[in-house]
Amino acid sequence: MDATTTPATQVATVKLLIGGQFVESKTTEWRDIVNPATQEVLAKVPFATQAEVDAAVASAKEAFKTWRKTPIGARARIFLKYQQLIRENMAELAAILTAEQGKTLPDAEGDVFRGLEVVEHATNIGNLQLGELANNVANGVDTYTLLQPLGVCAGITPFNFPAMIPLWMFPMAIVTGNTFVLKPSEQDPMVTMRLCELALEAGIPAGVLNVVHGGEAVVNAICDHKDIKAISFVGSTKVGTHVYHRASQSGKRVQCMMGAKNHAIVMPDANKEQTLNALAGASFGAAGQRCMAVSVAVLVGEAQKWVPDLVAKAKTLKVGAGTEKGVDVGPLVSCAAYERVNSLIERGVADGATLALDGRKPTVPGYEKGNFVGPTVFADVKPGMTIYDQEIFGPVLCLANAESIDEAIELINANPNGNGTAIFTQSGAAARRFQEDIDVGQVGINVPIPVPVPMFSFTGSRGSKLGDLGPYGKQVIMFYTQTKTVTERWFDDDTAHGLNTTISLR
Ligand code: NAD
Repeated sequence: MDATTTPATQVATVKLLIGGQFVESKTTEWRDIVNPATQEVLAKVPFATQAEVDAAVASAKEAFKTWRKTPIGARARIFLKYQQLIRENMAELAAILTAEQGKTLPDAEGDVFRGLEVVEHATNIGNLQLGELANNVANGVDTYTLLQPLGVCAGITPFNFPAMIPLWMFPMAIVTGNTFVLKPSEQDPMVTMRLCELALEAGIPAGVLNVVHGGEAVVNAICDHKDIKAISFVGSTKVGTHVYHRASQSGKRVQCMMGAKNHAIVMPDANKEQTLNALAGASFGAAGQRCMAVSVAVLVGEAQKWVPDLVAKAKTLKVGAGTEKGVDVGPLVSCAAYERVNSLIERGVADGATLALDGRKPTVPGYEKGNFVGPTVFADVKPGMTIYDQEIFGPVLCLANAESIDEAIELINANPNGNGTAIFTQSGAAARRFQEDIDVGQVGINVPIPVPVPMFSFTGSRGSKLGDLGPYGKQVIMFYTQTKTVTERWFDDDTAHGLNTTISLR
């Protein structure tokens, strides 16, 4: 961590990264970064000033002049080095992440690893950023395309994957020849900053990667900045919708990956033990704070009798600090998130859902101040109940009933979100029917969290996404580049070309 202790507060401060230097912000506005298992203040993060945002963008704009012309091989080799550095520092990265975010150490390594996969993918840039060529589109005329970088791009990231999501963004933006300004989550920016230090160590030149911290004002400054060409946002639907509209209005290319309510259909023919394991892992892992968490299981027919088994499975999970061995469910990220999830559970009871397992106020010896909520299961949940209509973002699984696969598909397609969905069945016909008719961008068949690996793109849909192109994979190459089409003719002195007043190429 490039954070130093300031005499005034005795607490480490998180730096800005501008022009290749980690610098102390001149702001007067700071926020504590708090360990959610203990409430210990780990560091302070600045809310950058407008001048600091402008300086970061200016440094990225200047660096773009040379970076855009850096040979592909040189760009790729930086990311080869970067992937090695991330691997070598995996344990340290996971420890920082767990301290500020709360998830278990093995899951924190998973967070870093899923980002590392994108870095590995970036090293393939030589095969990814290729144009097309058509020979002889007219006499002696060829047409080809170039995929050219856009300029300064920006990324705005959420708290729940402070390693993976920044790594979805800046490696692919930079390897395609752009320069970048990153605005990490103000709740847990420390692991992101360590990843940025390693990126510089890998050889990313000064000004190519910049970081500003903050909240609403900094995000708005990024949306409005005339020198930023594209923004990648990941976070809640409310903020993402705002960012999409505001930044589009100022002429930027924008992609926003947003909130979710992911349903899993459980068919009565599913392999019971594997399905229960998958549902418990996908609903309660990371304390439910994943945009692809299963938050609703739709039990079809006889599968409705599995509620006690599911509750028994949920009870096997251990709640505790992410640093402790054998823990499955860590704390929620903040006291505000803790209050919110508890009040939604209360609301579920008031709305008439059956509280089959109440995870509130678990006993966690040694961590009495932590933001813990244990696995919670509601049965008989229906649309119209707040716990169904809102994203809870906690370890709360809602169970809904359906009499047939048709009814289950109808329920999912009527939900406004479209991030992920899954079916558990042993029937190929049911699985095929599901993948064909379900209107959700990422589908799992006996896979509860179908987040694609980076040779594919993250393809959330409908209410979970704004913008046409997703992060990583082939789509992101299109997102971070402008297609330029060149039509060329080299005159041959021996060939006479008469004057042509028509639109036809001759
Ligand atoms: P958030 O929307 O509160 O914050 C995201 C970013 O926006 C942060 O950097 C934050 O500083 C900034 N921000 C917050 N309030 C703002 C405001 N009023 N104006 C402008 N900017 C603001 O999201 P979060 O709580 O950090 O993350 C959880 C959410 O992210 C969940 O809804 C989750 O589903 C979603 N998410 C989606 C995906 C996906 O790929 N679809 C992945 C991860 C998380």
